[in-house]
Amino acid sequence: MQGNKKSNLNLFLILISLWSGLFFVLPDFFIYPTTGLKGFLYTVAHWALNCIPLVLVLYLLMLNKYVFAVFFPVFIVLGSTIGFYSYFYKATLTPMILDATLNNDFRTSLDVMPVQLFVYVLISLIVSIIAVRYRFKKIEIRSAAVYLVALSLILYVLFSVNDRIKTSFYQHFPFSLYYNINQYNKLNSPFDSERIMPDTIRNYQSKEGLTIVFIIGETLRADHLSLNGYARETTPRLSKRENLISFPNIYSEYTYTNPSVAHIMTRADSANKERANKETSFVPLFKASGFYTAWIANQEPAKSYISFMKECDTLIYAHPEKSVYTYSAWLDEDLLPAYHFVNDLAKQDKLFILHTIGSHWYYNNHFSPSFEKFKPVTRSKIVSQNSQESIVNSYDNTVLYTDFFIDSVISTLVSKNAIVIFLSDHGEALGEGGNWLHANDNKALRNPACVIWCSDSYIQNYPEKFDALKANKNNRYRTDFLFHTILSAGNIPSKIIEKEYDMTQPYTP
Ligand SMILES: [Zn+2]
Repeated sequence: MQGNKKSNLNLFLILISLWSGLFFVLPDFFIYPTTGLKGFLYTVAHWALNCIPLVLVLYLLMLNKYVFAVFFPVFIVLGSTIGFYSYFYKATLTPMILDATLNNDFRTSLDVMPVQLFVYVLISLIVSIIAVRYRFKKIEIRSAAVYLVALSLILYVLFSVNDRIKTSFYQHFPFSLYYNINQYNKLNSPFDSERIMPDTIRNYQSKEGLTIVFIIGETLRADHLSLNGYARETTPRLSKRENLISFPNIYSEYTYTNPSVAHIMTRADSANKERANKETSFVPLFKASGFYTAWIANQEPAKSYISFMKECDTLIYAHPEKSVYTYSAWLDEDLLPAYHFVNDLAKQDKLFILHTIGSHWYYNNHFSPSFEKFKPVTRSKIVSQNSQESIVNSYDNTVLYTDFFIDSVISTLVSKNAIVIFLSDHGEALGEGGNWLHANDNKALRNPACVIWCSDSYIQNYPEKFDALKANKNNRYRTDFLFHTILSAGNIPSKIIEKEYDMTQPYTP
């Protein structure tokens, strides 16, 4: 009898593990770009690795039948839901999805829940209840306390081995739940101290009828723009635009997104880096001057800059269901519907911040098929499986796509009093010194692309600003310039604009 119950246990554990591994975790891996047998085996190994802690959790749940009765059905309902969205929608759990689920009214959430999901989850729930009954009747576990200690210890060790492995666990069910709830709480927890406004604007109301668009670029290095002399034609649209100026000599303080965006958005400079954590961005100064402000995001928020997103009157996520660990089409043109919506609002002066996904790895996900001009492109997410040529080709296709995106934004503003400022947060390594991607350090990483376009009416209204921009074209600036230049471009009467950082004034080094 005892032996039967033991073999029941093993078979039962194998079955519920397979169920969870195949339906809740495997869907995340279907879209992994890989090539050849080696790539396939790598993906299988990656999936299997992520199943190990999942099996341990299931074993832990099983130890006590009452715990199992309560938590297993919950586990199955959550796993089925997450697996369903991963498979059919290429969507992953993110803090933004949690935010939408927790803060939207239930009706809005229902709109994105198809009937197939209800049926699928209901069937899973019924099967899980049958499993609970089986656990009560057919399985007996002795020395559960020993197992509890042993399994917990193994789990602890697994999560402590290596940061990359831990990160991988956190991207998949069930640990993605824990991770994202944690991230959500972190993002929404109050700051240690309130950010202070670097200046106050009183008794001023802008009546310029001005639209300012700041596009935060992603991973775009200056030397891969044909505008800046790159041999390949990567910026055909912007090259044809009149009144567009490229600034090829910008230096970025940081080589990855989170600190760089905070630095760019605030009065922080190389001598006062801490301002990125202590002061508000330029957004409240625009608001105090009567501007309507909107942040439209194609990236997930981060602690370092989420407060600037919340400073805006409107905050819209174009892709709340994407994280940088997902591998499916994720395009900046998806920012445009929200942009058009806000642009059509009857507000006299507007400030837009469009946070793009730009040229972020995995490059092929960030341009649509018609922009696959440079071939062959990469076929695997494993950098070493691709040739340098294919990586550069894929990267250059994202540049071509960004050319299209910036040009699309400009085309909506031609007849208006408007200025568009594009600045990438950092560059990218494309094999220089054996380095790839970003967050390491080399010259290309610290030289982000920057272009500024002014409409005819803007130039008519502020000819001296446009002349200064043209004259400053080849000067060297740190990304510190952005804060001062955007305030000045918007005619915000702030006392803290520093001439040496303001591109719309004659250069004073
Ligand atoms: Zn970045």
